[in-house]
Amino acid sequence: MSSTSSVSETPTLSQSHSGIPSRLLHKAQTAKALIQELRTEPGSTDHPQLPIIPQGISRSHFHSAISELSTQLGQDNVSVIDKPPKDDGWYMEHATTHDMMSVVPKHEFMASAIVYPASTAEVQTIVVWANNHSIPIFPISMGRNLGYGGAAPRVRGSVVIDLGRRMNKILDIDSEDYTCLLEPGVSFYALYEEVQRRGYKHMWIDTPDLGGGSVVGNTLDRGVGYTPYGDHWAAHSGLEVVLPTGEVIRTGMGALPGSNTWQTFPYGFGPYSDGLFSQSNFGIVTKMGMTLMPAPPDHESFMYTFEREDDLAQIIEIIRPLRIGNILENVAQLRSAVQTLAVSGRPKSDFYKGSGRIPKAVVEAECANLPIGKCEWIYYGMSYGPKHIRQYKLDIIDAEFKKVSGARRIDPATIPKDNYFWSRDKIAAGEPDLEELLWCNWVPNGSHIAFSPVSPIRGKDATALLDITNKHQDCQGVEIFPAFVVGLREMHLIVECVFDKHSPSACEAALASMRGMVDDAAKLGYGEYRTHLALMDQVAGTYNWNDNALIKFHERLKDALDPKGILAPGKSGVWPSRYRGRGWEMGDGKETTEGEGVANGVLGGKL
Ligand code: ADP
Repeated sequence: MSSTSSVSETPTLSQSHSGIPSRLLHKAQTAKALIQELRTEPGSTDHPQLPIIPQGISRSHFHSAISELSTQLGQDNVSVIDKPPKDDGWYMEHATTHDMMSVVPKHEFMASAIVYPASTAEVQTIVVWANNHSIPIFPISMGRNLGYGGAAPRVRGSVVIDLGRRMNKILDIDSEDYTCLLEPGVSFYALYEEVQRRGYKHMWIDTPDLGGGSVVGNTLDRGVGYTPYGDHWAAHSGLEVVLPTGEVIRTGMGALPGSNTWQTFPYGFGPYSDGLFSQSNFGIVTKMGMTLMPAPPDHESFMYTFEREDDLAQIIEIIRPLRIGNILENVAQLRSAVQTLAVSGRPKSDFYKGSGRIPKAVVEAECANLPIGKCEWIYYGMSYGPKHIRQYKLDIIDAEFKKVSGARRIDPATIPKDNYFWSRDKIAAGEPDLEELLWCNWVPNGSHIAFSPVSPIRGKDATALLDITNKHQDCQGVEIFPAFVVGLREMHLIVECVFDKHSPSACEAALASMRGMVDDAAKLGYGEYRTHLALMDQVAGTYNWNDNALIKFHERLKDALDPKGILAPGKSGVWPSRYRGRGWEMGDGKETTEGEGVANGVLGGKL
C-alpha cells in the first residue's frame, strides 16, 4: 500500500453533504493515494470555446439569461464553466462539470453552467427560466452515476442542476413505520450515519457497492443494493416532482392533502405515475420516500468458490430455485476471480507484464495465494435470522453448491479482516463501504463503463452472455470484469469494462466493445436495464417492438409534458420534438454528441 501522507484530506460528511463518514476516512485516503499513484498526465486536449453554449441560442443571449438566473438564485448559486475543468477528481471528490470517466472527449458531455437550488420553489424557478430561454437543463442529485455518465448531461452545454449541494436534508425517519423522506442530496453514507446517530439499531438501510451516491439518484436510475431490500425502486414510496413546465406534483398518497400514508402506501389512487419519473426526462424529483428494513436478529456472510469457468451454467441453475424460494435471501453475486484480484487495488501490471488479457494461469496462481484459493467464480451471500433459521438455509445452500465438482465453502474464520469479503459482509448488512472502486486501478487512469443486460436465471443464458462478453474482450483487447447479480426472477450481468481514459485508443476500444455487446445481446433477446449516456440511443433502439411503439409513446409523453424540450433532452433515448430528426442520436459510427441544430422552440418543423 502506498503512503497516504502527501494526499490531501478527503472531505468528511461533517464538512460536505457528499463527504465520507469519518469511520471510512482511512479507506478514502488509501484509495485516493492508490489512484494518484497510477495517474498520468492527459495528452493535450483541444477544448472548444468555453462555456459550451447549447444549440439554438446565441452566446450573448446565453450570458444574459445566466445573469438573469444569478439574480434570481444569488451569484454564488450559479457557476459558469468558462475554464477547462482542472481535474476529474476521484470518486469522493468528483467533478460535476462533465463525465469524469469519459469514454469520448470530455467536452462531448460537458455542461455550460451548474446551478444550486435550495428548495423546490427554486427548482421551479430554474425550470421556468429554462423554458423562457429554451436552454436545456439536466438534474443530478449527487452526480456519482459513474460508469453511466457521472454528473454529465446528455446534451452538451446543458445547465446542470446540482440538487444535492443545498437540498440534502433527511426530512423524516419514522422508526415505527420503517420509512424515511429524503431530499436529493442525501447519500447512502449520510442516511446510514443518521440512522446510527439516532440509535435506531432496529433499522437497516440498503446500500449499493459504494455509498457515495444519493438514495434519490440511485433509486431513480433503478440501482440495486445487497440486503433483501435491494431493489431500490421497488422499495421507494412517494415522490415530489417538478414537471418540465414548472408545476409541482406529489405522487401516490402524497396527492391527498394531510395524508399520513405517503411513505407507507406507494400507489394512491388512479394511474400509478411514479414509473414515469424513473430513468426519464419527464420531471425533477425534489423529495422521495423510502422504506427501510427491520434489522434481523442476526446475520452471517458466506462465500463459495468454483473452479472452472464452465461451471457457470450449473451454478446459475442451482441459484435460480434457491433465490426464488428465498433460501438465498439477498441479491446474489457471482464474480469472476480476476475482479477479486483487481479489487486489491493493485494494477494488472503487478501481476502480468504482457499485453492483452491476463492469462488464466496467472490468475489461478495469484488466487492460490488468497483466501479464495484457485478458482474462476466466487459467490458472495448472506444469511439472515436467528442461528437455527440460518442453519436450515445454509445447509440447503451447502448441499446444492457442493453438487458442482470442486465447489468449496471458505470458512469466514479463516479470512483476514482486511479481505474484500468483509466489505461485502458490511454491504449485505446495509453498511455502506468504500472498496469497490479499487478495481478501476487495474489500468492507469482507470475508468469504467458498464454493459448491463438482464436475462432469465438460466445456465444457457449466463453462458450465452458470457460468450458475448468474451468475444468482445478478445476482439477489442479491453479489460472486462463480468459479475452475475441475481435479483429474484431475473439476473443482471454487470460487465464492467475498465479503460485508461487518457488513452484515445483504449476509450475507442471500450466504447466499441460496449456497442458490440449491446447489439449481439439484443439479437438474442437480451436488453440492458440501465446504460451510459453514450449508449442510450442504441439501447433505446433495441426496445423497438411493434414498429418502435414504446419509443413513440415516450415521445408523445415528452412532447405533452415538455413542449419546449428543455428537460434532459435525449436521456434514455427520449428526444423532444425540437431535436428529433436532426441527427442527435449517438451510435452507428457517430460518437459525437451534437446534432444539426434544434427547431426554434416550437413543436415540429425545422428551422
Ligand atoms: P447519484 O446520486 O447516485 O450520484 P446522479 O445524481 O448521478 O446519481 O443521477 C443518476 C441519474 O438519475 C442521472 O441520469 C440523473 O439525471 C438522474 N437524476 C438524479 N437525480 C434526479 C432527480 N432528483 N430528479 C430527476 N432525475 C434525477
